[in-house]
Amino acid sequence: MTGRSDMRIGIVGCAGRMGGMLARQVAATDGVALAAGVEASGHPAVGRDLGEVAGLGHLGIPVGDDAVRLFAEVDAVLEFTTPDATAEHAALAAQARTVHVIGTTGLDAEQQAALRRAAAHTPVVWAPNMSLGVNLLLALVEEAAKALGEEYDIEIFEMHHRAKVDAPSGTALALGEAAARGRNVSLEEVARRVRDGHTGPRARGEIGFAVLRGGDVAGEHVVTFAGDGERLELAHRASSRAVFAQGAVQAALWARDKPAGLYGMRDVLGF
Ligand code: NAD
Repeated sequence: MTGRSDMRIGIVGCAGRMGGMLARQVAATDGVALAAGVEASGHPAVGRDLGEVAGLGHLGIPVGDDAVRLFAEVDAVLEFTTPDATAEHAALAAQARTVHVIGTTGLDAEQQAALRRAAAHTPVVWAPNMSLGVNLLLALVEEAAKALGEEYDIEIFEMHHRAKVDAPSGTALALGEAAARGRNVSLEEVARRVRDGHTGPRARGEIGFAVLRGGDVAGEHVVTFAGDGERLELAHRASSRAVFAQGAVQAALWARDKPAGLYGMRDVLGF
């Protein structure tokens, strides 16, 4: 045999905003083949052609609703769905020893524990943001937080489209974690996620969050370090969801030969 066969990719939530983007990215990338897609049972896309649902033309692959079968059939699954579904599917990845690339955000502690359990048996790549730019931003924010002391107030702003259901965004929280790591503090102890009413003055060392929702914004994040007499802003603006899909496909290819474990985009990108 010459060369290596294409990595067979399945998409869970294939009719979602990111699901369609992922299908188109897989179809456009060498070394991977779009093999299957599933949706939640009862979703109108179930039974339709996966290529037609994703705007790729007819592929002869019907959208299914059997995730157990999907995980058994493919080499890697890309999943941008809901926290509940993602935690449930991680167990299927563990059983079938399938690479699981997860972009879902808003997972609670119990759901995150489910990902760690699955990662004992199979490679799991989980990142709240799969874009190259945001992952570089995470490193820059950590560096800036290390260099600038508590006299610089850290505030994190994010804006997303009107359909986003969790807040602050997983990326904003990851940026907060990066800033807290740079300062050697725990985000949980210093985060100020909401301000309303008579809040009193800002506490020293706090990391604040501000959230906007509206329109079709793919993702905007600004981390501000506000000092006396100057303000440093580190910003990222995604103008297309394609950057997240590119990262997800890259993560699947990267994870192909990796041992079981829970990985992030920093591992994939080699930062
Ligand atoms: P969406 O609502 O458009 O799509 C989610 C899809 O998952 C829907 O089609 C839904 O029917 C499907 N789904 C739900 N439960 C399912 C189940 N049990 N089985 C199969 N399919 C199921 O949402 P979206 O905008 O595509 O975002 C999805 C997630 O991805 C969100 O958590 C979002 O924050 C996250 N996201 C992450 C990144 C990143 O880079 N990591 C980028 C964009 C979005």
